[in-house]
Amino acid sequence: MNLQANKDRIFQEVAACAQAAGRSKDDVTVIAVTKYTDSETAEKLVQTGVKHIAENRVDKFLDKYQALQVYDLTWHLIGSLQRRKVKDVINLVDYFHALDSVKLAAEIQKRAEHDIKCFLQVNISGEESKHGFKVSEVDNILEEIQKFDKIKVVGLMTMAPIDASEQELAKIFSEANALRKNLKEKNLKNMPLDELSMGMSGDFPIAVQNGATFVRIGSAFFK
Ligand SMILES: *Cc1c(COP(=O)(O)O)cnc(C)c1O
Repeated sequence: MNLQANKDRIFQEVAACAQAAGRSKDDVTVIAVTKYTDSETAEKLVQTGVKHIAENRVDKFLDKYQALQVYDLTWHLIGSLQRRKVKDVINLVDYFHALDSVKLAAEIQKRAEHDIKCFLQVNISGEESKHGFKVSEVDNILEEIQKFDKIKVVGLMTMAPIDASEQELAKIFSEANALRKNLKEKNLKNMPLDELSMGMSGDFPIAVQNGATFVRIGSAFFK
């Protein structure tokens, strides 16, 4: 495993995909998902120049956060969050990617000491096993969440089925972008909706082609 080479290759590929889609490479931020690895390896990855780190579980988030405190990093929590754990973590998180219920939003509102930048997780593909709101309910959900003034909805997050074809991926990701644009036009208070968190190791080129502004990449760094 050569972390520096993997990092360089991933960043170059993301930049190339952005440019091929007529976008600036600065429009897309690479988030390194360190859930597969220990804090020592995560630190080595940070030393290659990665600035955005993500974990999907609260306990592992806190471990990495503690271990890497001396670095100037942006911290992402990307997995589903149990309400009873919100108080342990939410004020340390720069971006929370998995807002998937109004009850969770209420708990974040209760515990937040400052605005929390959140992505609304949307289940575009309609897969049963996936978390996230249905496309048809997002409108009403945003209205409900608007009453929580600590929650800033920066964008939408979605995950595609692992077995999706390239065509299906393009459809899911472009639908996510269309939905985001639609919701943004409502000009809801504290909901800028400029960002799209989508794309992982296996599908990030297609996500970037279709408007992703944050890609969450794990395994490709550690192979
Ligand atoms: C693990 C994980 C990723 C990264 O997945 P890879 O396929 O390893 O790149 C992205 N998003 C979420 C929510 C994850 O849990």
